[in-house]
Amino acid sequence: MTFVEALRCRECGKTYPVAALHVCDHCFGPLEVTYDYDAIRANVTRESIAEGPQTIWRYSALLPAESPGAIDMGAGCTPLVRADRLAAELGLGELWLKNDTVNPTGSFKDRVVSVALAKARELGFKVAACPSTGNLANSVAAHAARAGMRSVVFVPSDLEPAKIAMTAVFGGTLVAVDGTYDDVNRLCAELTDDHEDWAFVNVNVRTYYAEGSKTLAFETAEQLGWQAPDHVVAPIASGSQLTKIAKGFRELVKVGLIEDTPIRISGAQADGCSPVATAFADGTDAIRPVRPDTIAKSLAIGNPADGWYALDEVRKSGGAIGSVSDDEIRDGIGLLARTEGIFAETAGGVTIATLKKLAASGVVRRDERVVAMITGHGLKTLDAVTERLNPTFTIPPTRAAFEAAYSQED
Ligand SMILES: *Cc1c(COP(=O)(O)O)cnc(C)c1O
Ligand SMILES: [Zn+2]
Repeated sequence: MTFVEALRCRECGKTYPVAALHVCDHCFGPLEVTYDYDAIRANVTRESIAEGPQTIWRYSALLPAESPGAIDMGAGCTPLVRADRLAAELGLGELWLKNDTVNPTGSFKDRVVSVALAKARELGFKVAACPSTGNLANSVAAHAARAGMRSVVFVPSDLEPAKIAMTAVFGGTLVAVDGTYDDVNRLCAELTDDHEDWAFVNVNVRTYYAEGSKTLAFETAEQLGWQAPDHVVAPIASGSQLTKIAKGFRELVKVGLIEDTPIRISGAQADGCSPVATAFADGTDAIRPVRPDTIAKSLAIGNPADGWYALDEVRKSGGAIGSVSDDEIRDGIGLLARTEGIFAETAGGVTIATLKKLAASGVVRRDERVVAMITGHGLKTLDAVTERLNPTFTIPPTRAAFEAAYSQED
């Protein structure tokens, strides 16, 4: 049963039927899914959710698709782990990590793809497509393979080798484009006119795709015993995830599943692609597009579609948006791995390094219950860190050689 009411323009409020629409024909604003929250409140309880599957689909009452069917690869219900050792290093109190590295294709994108393709199939689309900075292409190709759909995915040609391989292996069409992600995105927007039965998950079905990110908020609240955290730190690429995390917590309040407590939201970007962090620092509303140059390729969107909405959510909540250098990103990956045993990709390094900065500057406080979103697996971006990661020592196969070398260690 779905409780979707309509699509509504986020700018002018005009409403539309639940169809393959994503922009308002009146003002060109983005459309958003709205639900009958009274009906959800009357029908959905913590207990009914607990009886659902161990995937994002346990929250189907607050998602826009009827049933995932073959599209359900098991996205979501990832661990929320208490991170006391990392908290101690950062001078924080209660810190939790949402470990989305363990999703089926190793990133948070499985949440949004599962929702987008479930809806795309309902709407009659035949082909799964997307412009991607890497992880989305992985996830679309995998979900399409499992559902027996064709896939055509587009990525910048300078992508990490692991992300190329992890997409190509699923057998769909993988198009490498000589250009930035923003070039790839524009190309795909143009192609939607030529290929009307293709669902570009983050373009013409973006309205539905975006809803998948709310499940990060739903799971976090449920895993905290149906409580909201005080402060969430999330990475920003297009800004969709951060925006929808905020919407997700608001919806839980609306349907009576959590209390209405203040939740601060902070964002994380790489210095080499920080248009939203820059607008935050400058105190302006205008997000000036940049040409990305960073090892955090999954976050390298120079002209973020939802950047303004992310900025607005952060400002309204009393959070901040920080950015970090490539070396700080590598340090962040190392710090997370060494303190908590989680190997994250560069986006995770961005989040941890930014959290470290925000903790040091007092934005993220010791008296807060903090949740950081770790959104992709480290094996996807090995090339960014392999230079630093070598055997402690190499020895001939003798006891003496081992003891001699090991005694040099502290
Ligand atoms: C896509 C992505 C994000 C967030 O992307 P948004 O476009 O801001 O929703 C975060 N982390 C990783 C690893 C990603 O691939
Ligand atoms: Zn409008």
